[in-house]
Amino acid sequence: MPPFLMPAKRPPPSAAQRLARRAWNALHVDSAEARALAERAIEGARRTADVAAEGWGRLALGFHLLYYATAAEAGAELQRAQACFDSVNDRAGHLIAGAGMARSLWRQGRVQEALDLVLSLRDRGVHVLKHEQLGVLLNAVAGCYSAQGNSAQAFAYMFEALRNAGPRSGRGFDTVLHCNLAHELLQIGDYEHALMHVAQGMARGGALKNARLQSVLWINRVIGLTELGRAAEAMPDVHALLALPADATGRGRMAAHFETLAIASIRAGDLELGSQLVDRSWALGDALLPEERLERYTATALLALAQGRQADALAALLPAEPAAAHDLTDGLSIRMRAQFFAVLSEAHEACGDAPRALAALRQCQRLYRQQTQKASLARYQAAALQTELLRLQHRLDENDAHRRSLERARAELAAANEALQAKVTEVESLQQALVQQATRDPLTGLFNRRHLNDALPTLFALAQRDAHTMALAIIDLDHFKLVNDRHGHAAGDRLLAAFGDMLAAQCRRSDVACRYGGEEFCLLMPRTEAADASRKVQALLRRWRTQSFDLGGTRLQGLSFSAGVADTSLAGDSPHALLKAADDLLLAAKREGRNRVGVATTAA
Ligand code: GH3
Ligand code: MG
Ligand code: MG
Repeated sequence: MPPFLMPAKRPPPSAAQRLARRAWNALHVDSAEARALAERAIEGARRTADVAAEGWGRLALGFHLLYYATAAEAGAELQRAQACFDSVNDRAGHLIAGAGMARSLWRQGRVQEALDLVLSLRDRGVHVLKHEQLGVLLNAVAGCYSAQGNSAQAFAYMFEALRNAGPRSGRGFDTVLHCNLAHELLQIGDYEHALMHVAQGMARGGALKNARLQSVLWINRVIGLTELGRAAEAMPDVHALLALPADATGRGRMAAHFETLAIASIRAGDLELGSQLVDRSWALGDALLPEERLERYTATALLALAQGRQADALAALLPAEPAAAHDLTDGLSIRMRAQFFAVLSEAHEACGDAPRALAALRQCQRLYRQQTQKASLARYQAAALQTELLRLQHRLDENDAHRRSLERARAELAAANEALQAKVTEVESLQQALVQQATRDPLTGLFNRRHLNDALPTLFALAQRDAHTMALAIIDLDHFKLVNDRHGHAAGDRLLAAFGDMLAAQCRRSDVACRYGGEEFCLLMPRTEAADASRKVQALLRRWRTQSFDLGGTRLQGLSFSAGVADTSLAGDSPHALLKAADDLLLAAKREGRNRVGVATTAA
């Protein structure tokens, strides 16, 4: 393909873009982290005038605010995101921001507007968006239908959202879906299944740092248990929910469903808490959705009934009756309306008005029938969704298992490597010690005689081949027996070690200093003639004589040695001949009175 036909390579994402993407991915997993990342992305994007990245940062922040702030605050942030996307012509960003804005609308009770908006985005979304992004849009459509009470459509869109999003391991999407599914099942009266999905969502969401998602799962469980007449079992959840702070670390600044919690508490017999919660709900004033307002009347009446104030109960309910009775009232679910009429029937009965009690009960039954019809319509979609969710979870579990086994294998490999490395180090140091033991004299640290036996022939041959002269000196400490006799063997050892140190310090690196045996030493000096070597050994003798030792109180000084020095130019027949020449010179030095260096001046 000619280069100009090659598809343009996309530039690598900027730092701000990467932050925004991480923020988006963390939305359900760790909400505080998601928010912090989004804010950093926005800041970085503004600093670098990276409008596209700013849009994605604001999008992540806006979705975070949908859960943790008021719907209006979230909507404003999403609008800013959309403005960014529009100015750089990012169609995908525009569509997803729109999906978020629809969410913000129905959270404000403007369900039809929300649905109109999101449906207007749907067709373009199907063309422009892929996978997870399309999933987000379709999930928003599902949310709008759910808010409208259209469970069948809600299930169908959830299913599509799930199929498009695919398995996104570890990002909490499956927990969100369990949560949504549970909510929808509650709406069609399938409480047992709803509780099952709450449990699955809890099991999978346990690792998520998302208190808001957790709180919605709890609320769903409270509703399910209360509807099944098991409100007492819901009380731990009620207390847990009330303990959550109302900010970005807890359930967020949305209404805390005080009405729902109140009904659970009253049904569970905790009238004191129930009464507190009813008060807290009323304290919120008008900041409630129509559905929540209806539930507040129900809770108020239920409390009055439980406290024996039948007339108050009726008074609380009657103003809401027309809206609850009307099938087309926007934003009221059948479940909530049925609950209302059940309590209204209880109130009439408590007031002794059997005909009205019966009428309310009939309303209730009519609504249950509607709910059942909806349920059968939705059941197919619900079942398909459950199957798909199950398949997704199998895949996630497989991924998890695969990842875990990979991690295990990696850890085992690392441990094996470490053990091997330790073994290698041990063997190396052992070998080093062995080499030392084999070639070194432990008392002086000098080479030993065995090494000399190896080194001498080699260096001798080298000297001959390269036509260099090598000198050899044999040094024997004078009257050493006397030192041992007078000061003890340990003192003798100290002197030998000191002599070794002196040799090692004074010799060239190329010289080979050995302990030849007992108090005798041998020095090999490559590229050195006997005369120079002799001067060197004379210098050693002077130095040795000046050294003084404190041997347990007595000072020892003026020690001497005798030495013989030969070289290969004078005694070059063999290593043995060289050694013998030096040894002969040493013996001569001893004979001549010690404390001197004998050196060969003519060929031996
Ligand atoms: P000369 O001047 O004739 O060499 O006298 P000398 O006493 O040094 O010679 P001789 O060969 O009679 O004695 C060597 C002494 O060196 C005897 C021995 O106890 C001592 N000696 C040899 N090896 C060691 C050692 O490892 N430690 C100690 N402390 N003494 C040693
Ligand atoms: Mg000796
Ligand atoms: Mg000696």
